[in-house]
Amino acid sequence: MFIDPHIHVSSRTTDDYEAMQKAGIVAIIEPAFWLGQPRTKVGSFQDYFNSLVGWERFRASQFGIKHYCTIGLNSKEANNEALAEEVMELLPLYVGKEGVVAVGEIGYDDQTKAEDKYYRLQLDLAKEVNLPVMIHTPHRDKKRGTIKSMDVSEEHGLDPSMVVVDHNNEETVKEVLDRGYWAAFTIYPHTKMGSERMVEIIRQYGAERIIVDSAADWGISDPLAVPKTARLMKEKGIKDEHIHLACYQNALSAYGQSGQMKEKDWLEAQPIDQRSKLAGNTVLRGGQSPRVEGSASSDIVEN
Ligand SMILES: [Zn+2]
Repeated sequence: MFIDPHIHVSSRTTDDYEAMQKAGIVAIIEPAFWLGQPRTKVGSFQDYFNSLVGWERFRASQFGIKHYCTIGLNSKEANNEALAEEVMELLPLYVGKEGVVAVGEIGYDDQTKAEDKYYRLQLDLAKEVNLPVMIHTPHRDKKRGTIKSMDVSEEHGLDPSMVVVDHNNEETVKEVLDRGYWAAFTIYPHTKMGSERMVEIIRQYGAERIIVDSAADWGISDPLAVPKTARLMKEKGIKDEHIHLACYQNALSAYGQSGQMKEKDWLEAQPIDQRSKLAGNTVLRGGQSPRVEGSASSDIVEN
């Protein structure tokens, strides 16, 4: 069993969901982020947050995957201050909803003043509602941005055990672990932070507080990055116990602190029944046979 604790499934296909389930992914976390182009109205954020706690959660369940999400104002869009103010008013209405396991992904992109302001406000919010935080560290000037993310988090009184620092690499991992944070790694295909290097990091640091994710989205990314990395770890002789920690248990332990994510959610899940509807809608299109699994039969039944 695997957990992918960072994947933007709203921008992925039903084929991806099927492949993920087949590869052993039982639960995922979808962090709120940007859409590849800036939103222009607060209503866009509202509808997006609603889909994260609503339709996408339902859609994942139709493929046998338990869906959780994080809610937050991403760092890129924090730079539109007028809009950011309005989004900040929305956030308290969503952070308490079912399936919300953290405030995130928040942090720095270009490390601007506005990003800093809304990062700090959201750290306070997370502290107030006692939710974990998912930090997005910048892709440019990463080391400085990562250290600053942790410094500011501590300034706001957050316990490192409640904070997952994501998008680490060899340059950042040591300090993140030494300071008591969860260190997540995003495995992007065809880049420097690939599965091979992840294996080496586990070899060097062990698996305590290390988390592997795909961050798959609308860009070139791989929704199977977690199971593929796990397989490579196994081939390269990494202990099963370490694979289990990095590709399943640590994500559950970190985000389980929200009280919203429990192993029984997927171990005792309802069987798949694609005849189910959410507000009148199903994942089926005209004439398709629903997948229906149950104690009586695991075969596909005709509608
Ligand atoms: Zn992301």
